[in-house]
Amino acid sequence: MKEKITLIIAAAGSGERAKQKGNKIFAIVGGEPCIKKTFDAFYKLGLISEYIVAAKPEETENIKVLLPDFVKIVSGGKTRTESVKNALSVTTGDVVLIHDGARPFVTAETINNCIDSAKRFGSGVAAIPTRDTVVKSNADNAEYLGKSGLYLIQTPQVFKTEEIKRAYEKAGEKTFNDDGEVYLNCFGKVKLVAGDINNVKLTYPEDFERAAIKETRFGTGFDCHRLVENRKLILGGVVIPHDKGLLGHSDADVLTHAIMDAILSACALRDIGFWFPDSDEKYKGADSMKLLAEVLRIVGEKGFKPESISAVIMAEKPKLLKHIRAITESLAAALGISPDKVGISATTLEGLGFVGREEGICVHANAVVVKE
Ligand code: MG
Repeated sequence: MKEKITLIIAAAGSGERAKQKGNKIFAIVGGEPCIKKTFDAFYKLGLISEYIVAAKPEETENIKVLLPDFVKIVSGGKTRTESVKNALSVTTGDVVLIHDGARPFVTAETINNCIDSAKRFGSGVAAIPTRDTVVKSNADNAEYLGKSGLYLIQTPQVFKTEEIKRAYEKAGEKTFNDDGEVYLNCFGKVKLVAGDINNVKLTYPEDFERAAIKETRFGTGFDCHRLVENRKLILGGVVIPHDKGLLGHSDADVLTHAIMDAILSACALRDIGFWFPDSDEKYKGADSMKLLAEVLRIVGEKGFKPESISAVIMAEKPKLLKHIRAITESLAAALGISPDKVGISATTLEGLGFVGREEGICVHANAVVVKE
């Protein structure tokens, strides 16, 4: 007979350490309220037939609107032990998973490991070996416990329902760290199974910052300027010695222009012709690096910033090899990113076309931008 599986989500904590507005289980993680993301991690597996959430009475309504109607909401207690006890009193499954509402990154593998273990051994508690040395310390002294054989406990913690209910009865009014300890107290053993390093419990503000999923966008830009005498050749803000320079309304820095267009394109914010029309006298002879700063301000207002840039300069002459480093550093400084995220290459066109005839220089640029 197939065992019926129940999930209990413990969501009645205060979450004060997270310093989020309201309970941390409502904080947005990867575009969704944390509690919804946690629920979905289990729901999408299709293994569970009963869902129970232990919630603070005053938050019940806010949780209900985020989760399907079939989820039972029970009143959480003052402690986690009490909350789980309340949830167990309405549990009807043969096997019960108990999970923290603020652990949204649990994987199917971890969940399955825990369930398999509970079916075979009665219990399955997700845990990971400590990577750091553990020390027990007080004001006067410290005792090194080391790393070997030491684990960090996570959830889910999965049990045969009948057994964990019996363990909670035996626990009485005593408070325990978690359900695994309640089980251990009753049966003298508890089985740890492989958890996952990313299965973190979102507890402190920095946990939420780390969990904030960035939106990545990709953009492309192209520009071309005519090479003429009596003009400076400027590429990426660097003056390159040459007998010709690029003609344009601004300083005609073709590389910076293509990069600006790539960044604007990534953000779907038009192009430099839109923001800095060449009909505007203001931009006559403009320093393109200043325009780049303005582009960063424009995209920054929408929450975007460049992450990396890649561009190829197509020029028959001059040879650009020895200038690439200076160009890269100049652009990196202007973009506010590390030079190892600015990839600039140069090529000739083997004498072909207008670039080959040294009539002009073209640049094709790509930009990756992120939105926080
Ligand atoms: Mg241009």
